[in-house]
Amino acid sequence: MAKQNKEMEKILSLCKQRGFIFAGSEIYGGLQNSWDYGPMGVELKNNIKQLWWNHFVRKREDMEGLDAALIMNPKVWEASGHVSEFNDPLVECKKCHERFRADHLDSDKCPSCSGELGESQQFNMMFRTHLGPVAGSDNVVYLRPETAQAIFVDFKNVLQTSRQVLPFGIAQIGKAFRNEITPGNFIFRTREFEQMEIEYFIKPPKNEKEWQDYFEKWIKNINEWIDLIGVDKNKVHEVEIDKSDLAHYSKRTVDFEFDFPFGRQELYGLAYRTDFDLKNHEQHSGQNTKYREQDTGEEFWPHVIEPSMGVDRTVLAILCSAYSEDGERVVLKLDPKIAPYKAAVFPLMRNKPELVEKAREVYVSLKNKFNIAWDDRGNIGKRYYSQDQLGTPKCVTIDFDTLEDDTVTVRDRDSAKQERVKIQDLEKIISDSINQ
Ligand code: ATP
Repeated sequence: MAKQNKEMEKILSLCKQRGFIFAGSEIYGGLQNSWDYGPMGVELKNNIKQLWWNHFVRKREDMEGLDAALIMNPKVWEASGHVSEFNDPLVECKKCHERFRADHLDSDKCPSCSGELGESQQFNMMFRTHLGPVAGSDNVVYLRPETAQAIFVDFKNVLQTSRQVLPFGIAQIGKAFRNEITPGNFIFRTREFEQMEIEYFIKPPKNEKEWQDYFEKWIKNINEWIDLIGVDKNKVHEVEIDKSDLAHYSKRTVDFEFDFPFGRQELYGLAYRTDFDLKNHEQHSGQNTKYREQDTGEEFWPHVIEPSMGVDRTVLAILCSAYSEDGERVVLKLDPKIAPYKAAVFPLMRNKPELVEKAREVYVSLKNKFNIAWDDRGNIGKRYYSQDQLGTPKCVTIDFDTLEDDTVTVRDRDSAKQERVKIQDLEKIISDSINQ
């Protein structure tokens, strides 16, 4: 974390203090670059995943979902090219023995001690383990390095059990594991992370324009998603990957990079994978993975456009976009749709039972519909301050007037403006703020 700049330090400290993200295995001194999502973080992350699922799967007619096993038959990774190709160049310093990714270094000296670097060698990033109690060469398996392959392996199952015809997509959210040589920058690059991936299957294109049109549509779809979740658009850059740098399966890749506090880095990727994967799975498994045209009976391997999005990088880009300071006040300007709490409810004073009772009534009724915070500690100013740090869009205060006329004060997180509203209107005010 040596290169972490001030902004990153502030976000990291807020995450820890307010229960978003903790260092993993902390009481045992941690485990290098592993992170745990705390009570606020899990809400934020789940809201993002749920919104993604609604946006890309449920709202569309041309999409099906999948949740496949993490450990797959190792032949999958031979067919996909991961066993032979999923390598990063590794170099080791001859003096201090620290290891680096050769393609991430600017000089031929060790960045830590300026020592001489050894020869670069290819390092396969898949996590290996063994199936069953005895470790042997015949039961080696891998933790999946991406969610995508399961979609190809299950392609025929989904096709046969759904009513989809081309073009259509299959989406999956789940964990992936990569034994990264240099993880770091908080949750940006970890060895265990989550992905939200889609394989969008199209007919084999007759010309370049046919697949490019789908590709452009997906660029638009990704931008709409970025807008929806409140990632700062000004910090997002589309980068066309040079032909010489394309992955072995890709004919075109566009990376969506984000200006993180530690530099501009990949947030999402979009790739045209041709028919590489389905074709290879047929060749390696001996099973027919082709699509059959209903009218003509013609069989072929569909081609694929793949939007691939990291959940944790989404969380980080959202935190970096939402973090703001207004003098002493730290405000997490999260989009209400993904904010952990949608509102907080306070009794003006905790030592007045009639206020507490009324406030509990409001709290319990709202809590049936939304995730709502309760706070009766300290003064109202401090409670606002505390909710601002969590990104809670609305704070509702119950005072003595409430007991007379059933009205409450609603304070808005971003404008800090307060208005007096009827208790019966609260549900609509909160749901309007979520659906704006
Ligand atoms: P990078 O170049 O940063 O290593 P990549 O090009 O290898 O990334 P992909 O294989 O395209 O990444 O994976 C798709 C998405 O999964 C990435 O855009 C990113 O959001 C996420 N991702 C990949 N590796 C990691 C990681 N180690 N930690 C967290 N998220 C990751």
